[in-house]
Amino acid sequence: MDRPSARATKIVATLGPASSSADTLARMIRAGVDVVRLNFSHGTAEDHAARAGLVRAAALACDREVAIMADLQGPKIRIGKFAEGKVQLEPGQPFVLDATCELGDASRVGLDYPDLPRDVQAGDILLLNDGLIRLRVTRVAGSEIHTEVLVGGELSNNKGINRQGGGLTAPALTGKDMEDIRSAVQMGVDYIAVSFPKNRTDIEMARQLVAIAGAQIGARPQLIAKIERAEAIAALEEIIEASDGIMVARGDLAVEVGAAAVPALQKRMIRLARLHNRTVITATQMMESMIVNAMPTRAEVSDVANAVLDGTDAVMLSAETAIGRYPVETVEAMASICLEAEKSQHFELDKDFLDQTFHRVDQSIAYGALFTAHHLRCKAICALTHSGATTLWMSRHDSATPIYALTPRVTTQRKVALYRNVRTLHLEESGDRDASLLAAEKLLVEKGVAEPGDLVVFTVGEPMGSPGGTNTLKIVRIGQHG
Ligand code: ATP
Ligand code: MG
Ligand code: MG
Repeated sequence: MDRPSARATKIVATLGPASSSADTLARMIRAGVDVVRLNFSHGTAEDHAARAGLVRAAALACDREVAIMADLQGPKIRIGKFAEGKVQLEPGQPFVLDATCELGDASRVGLDYPDLPRDVQAGDILLLNDGLIRLRVTRVAGSEIHTEVLVGGELSNNKGINRQGGGLTAPALTGKDMEDIRSAVQMGVDYIAVSFPKNRTDIEMARQLVAIAGAQIGARPQLIAKIERAEAIAALEEIIEASDGIMVARGDLAVEVGAAAVPALQKRMIRLARLHNRTVITATQMMESMIVNAMPTRAEVSDVANAVLDGTDAVMLSAETAIGRYPVETVEAMASICLEAEKSQHFELDKDFLDQTFHRVDQSIAYGALFTAHHLRCKAICALTHSGATTLWMSRHDSATPIYALTPRVTTQRKVALYRNVRTLHLEESGDRDASLLAAEKLLVEKGVAEPGDLVVFTVGEPMGSPGGTNTLKIVRIGQHG
């Protein structure tokens, strides 16, 4: 492996036609992709399985561990496909949504939800493609919803539909989602994102389905709750508790609660996720103009930097890497914005712990290690870990000291790929603490993480190998034993 990245904030990139060749994938990973997202709203399970295989091969070629996240479609209502793949809608023109239409054109398009005509009435505003296109319903006739285009633009296959003000969506897990959970677990994904959950129960249901699907192969992907409904804001804390992480899914969220409310919600969601020891991804339109341009706008640069300063674990790319002209350049640009924003942060760890009570041994060791490394200006904090749990506790606080998950488990290496400020190295399994620590020191020097004479903090569990058993903190000067 190359020297581990200096960047703390992680990058999630969505795969699509623009990024599904082995070569492009490898270049994207080298440019800084940590987590690859497969959007199950587009393409078949076989397509995604093939893409997952490509990701694993590309990561191997780059000597990196990359996580794969399956994003379930959820009950989002979508238009069907167009004969030409896309059309151009002009303001003032009539446009019909009709579930019985097979292949659309500039006058009408199909729907994946035949009951939509029952849910809407004349005067309703429908928003397509995350609100970029606005239609006003003029009348409903049988299976047809007749509309007038208020704001036009290019409309391509399978874009989502929302009603202004929300309230169109059904239960969070559809039959297709249940199928997709099985396929995703089978293809060995590390994360599953649940779309449109509205409460704790939606996540618990997904958790059960994942447990059943993974029981035989011993797989347990982590669950990310996409916060994108007005109802989910009211139930934010219980959803956070039920999941392993959340996504600030700004596309649908903005349509439901109004775009102006989203920036403040983003800050609140990031703060709450970290407080509850959960991860958080900030998503949608972060580098949108790079779908067609070779450079981001000033506003996009600020948006990414501000998400970093808010404390997000990861920033996400959607269409930019799925269908954009510059998938590799977009990742490069995003990585450099993150790095620069991180440099401007200054850390006041002491204040972070003022109002905190520790309840758990591993949590206390994690915070103790962070605090110690901060004050002693250690080169790195290294957690010898099986599950990565200690590094999650540590990474909920900003610190200038890089955190390393040293683990024999490849699934843990992939899982921590999402954690802010956590890097990972493979350390062989061993039951002997002293031998492990020596091997770890050697590894750190080999990978250029630390040099002889540097101070490093280690955390480890005794006896070794008991999960969640981190109970020891050791401060080591590299290369000095006696
Ligand atoms: P979601 O609401 O789940 O984010 P989306 O339709 O907005 O769904 P994104 O994953 O955000 O989808 O990607 C943006 C666009 O990239 C999609 O609308 C689609 O046009 C394209 N895209 C993404 N993944 C694929 C894919 N696997 N195959 C073809 N096109 C894709
Ligand atoms: Mg969405
Ligand atoms: Mg999207």
